[in-house]
Amino acid sequence: MSILITGGAGYVGGAVVDHLIEQDENVVVVDNLSRTPDSGLPDGVPFYQADIGDREAIAGIVRDHSVDACLHFAGLIAVGESVEQPGLYFEQNVSQTIALFDVLTTGGVDNVVFSSSAAVYGEPDQIPIPEDHPHRPTSPYGSTKSIVEQILTQYDLTGMIRSVSLRYFNAAGAAPGRSERHVPETHLIPLAIDAALGLRDPLTVFGTDYDTPDGTAVRDYVHVVDLADAHFRALDHLRSDGATDVFNLGNGEGYSVMQVIESVSRVAGREVPFILGDRRAGDPPVLVASADRAQQTLGWVPEHPELDDIVSSAWDSRSPA
Ligand code: UDP
Repeated sequence: MSILITGGAGYVGGAVVDHLIEQDENVVVVDNLSRTPDSGLPDGVPFYQADIGDREAIAGIVRDHSVDACLHFAGLIAVGESVEQPGLYFEQNVSQTIALFDVLTTGGVDNVVFSSSAAVYGEPDQIPIPEDHPHRPTSPYGSTKSIVEQILTQYDLTGMIRSVSLRYFNAAGAAPGRSERHVPETHLIPLAIDAALGLRDPLTVFGTDYDTPDGTAVRDYVHVVDLADAHFRALDHLRSDGATDVFNLGNGEGYSVMQVIESVSRVAGREVPFILGDRRAGDPPVLVASADRAQQTLGWVPEHPELDDIVSSAWDSRSPA
């Protein structure tokens, strides 16, 4: 039996592939490589370049590899882009996921771990945010994650799929032998590192008038290695007949954009050149997780909660030796 990893060539998916292989799991990866420079997969991992909405391709993979579970990472992830091109996000993240789930159920795959996001909450009423907080996404990206979670709730009611939706807060840092890379890069830590290295223009701080201590937006950064561990635990939960559930994955600590810039400067031993800019459309002011449920149900305790450790791993993976 194999685990189908959609988006397994990407940043979080790739780290999870490595982790599952260490645990002696059989995996098969599907990725269209649209936002990843190359597949970056360990030798011997079966890889198919295809869209998740390609029913024929996915059905063939499910059949040929005796797939019995799916970890679904594939999707577009840029909040700002989703505001500019909502149709693209609804098509890629929702329509194609609907096709994927239909093919999975036809093929008898009944366990799914889904990469959801803190973006489902929008502007939260309480910090840290518990999982039962209402969904009020402020971007099409967040909306796509909320819609797919609802679809999975209905699949659970039909008895066809049991699932775990993992709401990542800000995935960050680098797993061994990997670095965070998106095409185009839109994420704060890699952009700050590249700005410090002089590989890019100065970083633009998106918004300085938020209702936060220093006026810049606050996020909960979680190490990608800890995310990988959470996925393995989620899979284990489903294999042990655990119920469909959703979990926040974060450290419960918020850091502002300016604090992240300071951390990168500290770790890199160089200044991060930056300019102050307007807010980015769709960005909520503060997102900080309560991850108590993941701890209680999955036994998930992040091993790398410190921002400087997260930033250090990112720096080590990107800076010249
Ligand atoms: N951000 C920024 N400048 C950038 C990229 C990001 O100020 O060039 C801010 C962004 O507005 C948000 C935080 O950094 O408040 C984290 O953004 P990122 O895109 O890394 O992750 P997101 O929170 O959108 O998932």
